[in-house]
Amino acid sequence: MFWGSSREKQTTLPCPVCAEKMLIKRTCHEAYMYCGHCQKKFDLKAFIPQMDSAMEEFLENLYSNRI
Ligand SMILES: [Zn+2]
Repeated sequence: MFWGSSREKQTTLPCPVCAEKMLIKRTCHEAYMYCGHCQKKFDLKAFIPQMDSAMEEFLENLYSNRI
């Protein structure tokens, strides 16, 4: 419920720079990976092969909310 309409979610994927776990975030029209430690954005596409269940749920929500 808490994550239902959230614009970000914790994932288990490590940041390529510092290895801290990244968040997946979204704007109104795109999703991306974000490291709170580096405060950097990363292209989501690069992480699709390693997608975890948190990312999967987040993206499902994103696309099902689209009109
Ligand atoms: Zn980082």
